[in-house]
Amino acid sequence: MPELPEVETVCRGLKPALVGQEIVKADVRRKDLRRPFPRGLKACLESSRIAGVGRRAKYILVHLDNGFVLVIHLGMSGRIVFQPHSYKPQPHDHFILHLSGGQQVVLNDPRRFGLVDLVPAAELDSHQLFAHLGPEPLSDCFSGPVLAAALQGRKTAIKLAIMDQHIVVGVGNIYASEALFMAGIDPAMPAGEVETKKVEALAAAIKKVLQQAIRAGGSTLRDHRQTNGERGYFQHHFMVYDQEGAPCPRCRRAGRKKARIARIIQGGRSSFYCPRCQI
Ligand SMILES: [Zn+2]
Repeated sequence: MPELPEVETVCRGLKPALVGQEIVKADVRRKDLRRPFPRGLKACLESSRIAGVGRRAKYILVHLDNGFVLVIHLGMSGRIVFQPHSYKPQPHDHFILHLSGGQQVVLNDPRRFGLVDLVPAAELDSHQLFAHLGPEPLSDCFSGPVLAAALQGRKTAIKLAIMDQHIVVGVGNIYASEALFMAGIDPAMPAGEVETKKVEALAAAIKKVLQQAIRAGGSTLRDHRQTNGERGYFQHHFMVYDQEGAPCPRCRRAGRKKARIARIIQGGRSSFYCPRCQI
């Protein structure tokens, strides 16, 4: 499933190709994905011009010059691919924008957990998709003190707390494990009991792992666009994620007796951590 860094990478790839383009034709090829395509979608999009491309959590926001925002979520399996003018739709191509420059922007989503919506720009923050969302982790709205305030008094495990979209958006399972390792925090510790200094370190670690992943993803988007293949978004080496049984990279560096990365299940998902240096 695409996580925040992959969606950010997609947005950065879309921006230069989309901004300033007129939507000549919007081809809505079925009536729904996870939920129905909004009414009037085609009419609203056609002959509008794309004014900007942004992101909120894992939603891609395409700002139109008519005051509406086209909202796209990639779900589990969605991909956005550029195709030439002559391209003929393939199976699972559900939504296609034909741009004035001749390119087609194709949303392909075999499992159809994705979503397309249309929201007036002025109502974006209060819309049901966005109203409950916490701060963007890479923005100045998210910091150690902000995170500390959100965690205060919480008994939920810290790993589950930082994956809670009300607290901070876009920290998925992989990045939660990695950030907790970086900050030296036991993923099972009750969120409200993590000491202030470690919460500061955790906020910084969340920013760092996401930025690293965005940098890693940037290079493979080009492959993605060139080949239109099924390649993963990026091949990233993780410190602890999916490393069960491997020697802990930090313990090893410190020259101490090797500890091995352990795996526990939290909220139905695997958490990976070093039992020695995450306390
Ligand atoms: Zn360790």
